[in-house]
Amino acid sequence: MNSYDSDVYSEYLLSRGLIEVNTEDEADLILINTCAVRQKSVDKSKNLLKQLAYKKLKKNIAVCLLGCATDLPDYTDLKNNQCIDFMSGPLNSMVVKSEFEKFIDNFLAEISFYRKDKLLHSNYSKISAYLPVIHGCNTFCSYCIVPLVRGREVSVPMDDIVSEIIHGTEKGICEWTLLGQNVNHYGKDLGHEEGQFPELLDAVASLSKVVRLDFLTSHPRDFNTRILEIMLKHEKIYRHFHLPLQSGDDEILERMRRGYSTTQYKNLIQQIRDCFPLASLTTDIIVGFPGETEKQYLNTLKMIEQIGFDTVYAAVYSHRPGTLASTYIEKVYPEQNKERLRHLLDVQRNISKKRINRFLNNYNQVFITKDLQNSYYEAKTLEEKTIILFSSKQLKLGDIVKVWIKDIQKGQLMGEIFQP
Ligand code: SAH
Ligand code: SF4
Repeated sequence: MNSYDSDVYSEYLLSRGLIEVNTEDEADLILINTCAVRQKSVDKSKNLLKQLAYKKLKKNIAVCLLGCATDLPDYTDLKNNQCIDFMSGPLNSMVVKSEFEKFIDNFLAEISFYRKDKLLHSNYSKISAYLPVIHGCNTFCSYCIVPLVRGREVSVPMDDIVSEIIHGTEKGICEWTLLGQNVNHYGKDLGHEEGQFPELLDAVASLSKVVRLDFLTSHPRDFNTRILEIMLKHEKIYRHFHLPLQSGDDEILERMRRGYSTTQYKNLIQQIRDCFPLASLTTDIIVGFPGETEKQYLNTLKMIEQIGFDTVYAAVYSHRPGTLASTYIEKVYPEQNKERLRHLLDVQRNISKKRINRFLNNYNQVFITKDLQNSYYEAKTLEEKTIILFSSKQLKLGDIVKVWIKDIQKGQLMGEIFQP
């Protein structure tokens, strides 16, 4: 969601003639897009702001603080120091957009060294885009601040999504990722009790200029298995499932208010693998939830080993203000949790290394994402694995080509174009 918001801001600034630079030192305007999910990311943005406040003493730069953490009291001091020129919450309303546009109008009018000859014609073109299909979240997992900072669920009407994608494909965007905190709730707030996500997926996948399609995030409790039928129908939908597990212990899952058990989760994975034996499976894990015992942590570790995820995004539990878990009286042990996290990531590294072997000596239809020069290209397999491939024939970004996966070097798939 934050990547999407950042893209919207940067596209808008480019359209106003501003140029993207590589370092803070070259910039006249700096946008910080914050994330409230964990305290670590809030601290990062606070540190960055402190550095920028110091820079502002020497150079006239404008600083914008954006995103879902801006409502937290963490930034009060910095706001009072007036190092923030513009501040606003997540990009989920027209009000936010129009206030930002007004701020940019003023910025452009005021900046005395702003010259027309500084404007470059950007040759910025992209082939991939994120698109939120449902904003907010109604689920209220006990540890999570997202529903408090991004509000309740609001689905974007299907016709609007489809016309936005058609418009984007005309500009060359051919890989789309449909976003939502829980995409399976798509359409519920529009009066469709069962949700309409499979229908949406079908409608988008049926657009001929959409070459690859992805979606994030599927809540394991709500995963609608009709999605699997739609995926079987359209080969362009990535065979990748991001299903945040959070914990491999039933009692912890209950205290997290996740609404599924480890058995239900395992059954869902089995159903997915029955349809797509090579599917990529990724997950999120929280280590050190309040009261997590050694045994409960080991249950998570065991589950990770049993399932064999391709990638695990794990983090230590972070107390978030206003959440139910922040009222739990059980203590958390930061040092012990860091050690648990380190160990879990070590275990997962080995699993990932082994799991990647399943692609070896196979064909795959890959999507070209980068020209690495000298006849090498970066691409994505149907399971969304990165692959480096050699092709003597010139390829374009967004092309789909058949490759033979012949090697793995430093955990990286290597292939060559299939010549019939
Ligand atoms: N909507 C998605 C997740 C959004 S937040 C879902 O339901 O899975 C992304 C991830 O951040 C979560 O999956 C969780 O693992 C992590 N996260 C959220 N709150 C957290 C907290 N308080 N401490 C540590 N990790 C947290
Ligand atoms: Fe947070 Fe749970 Fe909503 Fe995901 S589903 S955003 S983890 S409250």
